[in-house]
Amino acid sequence: MTASTETRPSTPGPSETLDPSDWDQLRAQAHRMLDETIDYIANIREQPVWRPIPDEVRARFREGLPREASELGEIYREYSDFIAPYATGNVHPGFMGWVHGGGNVIGVLAEMLAAGLNANLGGRDHMPIEVERQIAEWTRTMFGFPPGASGIFVTGTSMANLMAVWVARTAALGQEARQHGVGGEGALLTAYTSKATHGCVSKAMDLAGFGSDALRTMPFDRSHRVDVAAMRAQIARDREAGLRPFLVVGSAGTVDVGAIDDLVALSELCREEKLWFHVDGAYGALGVLSPSIAPRLAGLEQADSVALDFHKWGQVPYDAGFLLVRDSQRHLDAFAAPAVYLRRETRGLAAGSPWPCDLGPDLSRGFRALKTWFTLKAFGTKKLGAMIERTCALARYLEEKISAEPRLELLAPAQLNIVCFRYRSDDANRVNSEIVADIQESGIAVPSTTTLDGKLAIRAAIINHRTDTRDLDALVEAVLKFGERH
Ligand SMILES: *Cc1c(COP(=O)(O)O)cnc(C)c1O
Repeated sequence: MTASTETRPSTPGPSETLDPSDWDQLRAQAHRMLDETIDYIANIREQPVWRPIPDEVRARFREGLPREASELGEIYREYSDFIAPYATGNVHPGFMGWVHGGGNVIGVLAEMLAAGLNANLGGRDHMPIEVERQIAEWTRTMFGFPPGASGIFVTGTSMANLMAVWVARTAALGQEARQHGVGGEGALLTAYTSKATHGCVSKAMDLAGFGSDALRTMPFDRSHRVDVAAMRAQIARDREAGLRPFLVVGSAGTVDVGAIDDLVALSELCREEKLWFHVDGAYGALGVLSPSIAPRLAGLEQADSVALDFHKWGQVPYDAGFLLVRDSQRHLDAFAAPAVYLRRETRGLAAGSPWPCDLGPDLSRGFRALKTWFTLKAFGTKKLGAMIERTCALARYLEEKISAEPRLELLAPAQLNIVCFRYRSDDANRVNSEIVADIQESGIAVPSTTTLDGKLAIRAAIINHRTDTRDLDALVEAVLKFGERH
């Protein structure tokens, strides 16, 4: 043999693919993984809600890049021993921190199926995109939007709010702004929202190039609803100063206390002032599925765009954010961009225009729609609405328990599913923040904190469909127990 034939690559053989050489062995391991995942969810109540990560466990994950292959069983063991036990805990019914959904087991199965298809939902003509379009259509009817609306899955409401700012910007400045930049006129654009609005809206204004100062944050009333008269006055002052108001962001469920802005008044203001009306409905918008909450969301149907998360009250496994835009042309104006390698056809796989990549910044995208589609079909919107209503009833139960306990103080009335309260103490802010950390570390429950009028509150947001009165009783008992120690 000559040296040249020795270095010639051998003919590629089938053993070099990443598929297993023994499918039966893979299948047995896969069944085990699925069984144990189902057990994990079915028996979650027996586990602590959360546990702190031991140093040695954290240290294991500082190991270098694996150059050699490992057995699947071994990797799975590492997952079972060192990853799964130290997850966030939001599958657990005792999790009430921040605004986290509990997920659902049907969504887990759908996520597995989606991974099997490995579909890329950036574009082209295939059924997974039709599933996403069906969800856009379902969401449109859920919110009473007219035909011709468009929608798209994104990571979460932070991204959906940013995209809404981009759509509103293009609507205000015209499509030329996409080529020339927002320019001098863009520097005059101002947006309006409540001081109680989620911080991602301010970040969206920053990321969109306007700067967070271009977002005017208005005061709110006792129930944390934005002061619409103050907003109207600020808009007038800004116009007089030569600025160009273009956007109002209302909240359907604020993150602190679950307040719903007066969406009817905001939509009227936007119509009079010719402003884009966006609603951050991250968790609260799905309240439309509950007959008792829906009337309080009146005005949502007038919005130009709505951002929401199916992964919160909708219980779809993370992540499943969504942006719905009333006028699909406005939506396309902000994102559609021609490219030779993305040429559209009337037949073949390159048909089916417009594609999801025309409705957002992403080209390659996964099949988030499938877990949402399975969840909506498996439970139906009636049952999901009843589940949402139940979390609000549980919040009222917790509120009553707190009101009846002299050692505790309610800090804001429960408007939806969020209860803010504290343990009475002379050093209340320090003591309550200690109590929350103690409870989290005990594994009994996971509340989080917020600050209301300078008062640090223990905040319980009941989102998880598994949460029960037992979990709330345990939370109150733990607050009293740890409170006494400080
Ligand atoms: C959760 C939440 C957000 C952010 O949504 P992500 O899905 O976490 O990006 C924005 N606004 C409100 C009111 C929220 O509850």
